[in-house]
Amino acid sequence: MNENPVPYRAPGHAPIAFGPTPLHEAERLSEALGVRVLVKRDDQTGLALGGNKARKLALLVEDAIRRGCDTLVAAGGAQSNFARMTAAAAAVAGLHCELVLGGNEPSRWSGNLLLDRLLGARVHFAGSENWLDILRRTNDVAADLGSRAYAMPIGGSTPVGALAYLHAAGELLEQMSGPPDWIVVADGTGGTHAGLLAGLPAGVRVLGVDVSRPPLPLVQTIAALAAETAALGGRPAPGGEVLVVDHCGPHYGSITGEAREAVRLAARTEGLILDPVYTGKAMAGLVAAAREGRVRGTVVFWHTGGAPGLFADEYADF
Ligand SMILES: *Cc1c(COP(=O)(O)O)cnc(C)c1O
Repeated sequence: MNENPVPYRAPGHAPIAFGPTPLHEAERLSEALGVRVLVKRDDQTGLALGGNKARKLALLVEDAIRRGCDTLVAAGGAQSNFARMTAAAAAVAGLHCELVLGGNEPSRWSGNLLLDRLLGARVHFAGSENWLDILRRTNDVAADLGSRAYAMPIGGSTPVGALAYLHAAGELLEQMSGPPDWIVVADGTGGTHAGLLAGLPAGVRVLGVDVSRPPLPLVQTIAALAAETAALGGRPAPGGEVLVVDHCGPHYGSITGEAREAVRLAARTEGLILDPVYTGKAMAGLVAAAREGRVRGTVVFWHTGGAPGLFADEYADF
């Protein structure tokens, strides 16, 4: 039994994340890669086309309501999945949503941006792609709202948000007859990876594929967050090594040839839709690790969502 069922709904509200999400064999992909691959479908968490942020948001919204806030404030890139899902979670819980996104207003709102507007969020463009500028603008928006604002952590990656993936690790183990040898997951802020480490037995290795190359080394961020998340969840601190490979390309969001190939491979072997920014790069990391013999046995590819980004004008030639 999973002793920590995910509180999928904030008190008195509709579910923010559906679960448990499916876990299935990917036979034709396994054959192509030479390892047994199972796919954990967190692209099917239900919230506004799904993705890993729904689980985190279920806990974060609960926290916001407990603190008496009525507005969720989130920051991200123009095609942020987290921003889209924060807007949706706010709608579900009857809260307002203010989003501060990188860059200038585009002439056409496509992909996640189209959904942000559809979901009723107020969108502010920071006018710059620089994270410091985006965060400065976010602080201004939150300061204007005062105590009504719940400022979302970037990517939802505080111990409260990452706790959702401690729970999700338990959900996965319940779906399997024994633990997998490996899990492969896309790393942005590292909260998903950290939560999984906090919730898994030490023998399961997690390979994170870094898609954004943050200023602070991701390995250290994940190790610290995993320890804090385990403490919050009443678990012992995870001891294993934090494994991260880089597959960012020139910059966050840039298309790499390997990711393009990996997205095609998943689509053409399994009918599985990945995205150019996160899961395509994670799959490229899995393809490389399988070819090098680095991952063996049973591998769970943790599908974290992101498909709306495929429909963004930026990726029209993907
Ligand atoms: C945010 C996101 C990730 C990364 O999750 P982190 O917890 O920030 O590492 C991976 N995949 C998709 C599709 C995402 O939107």
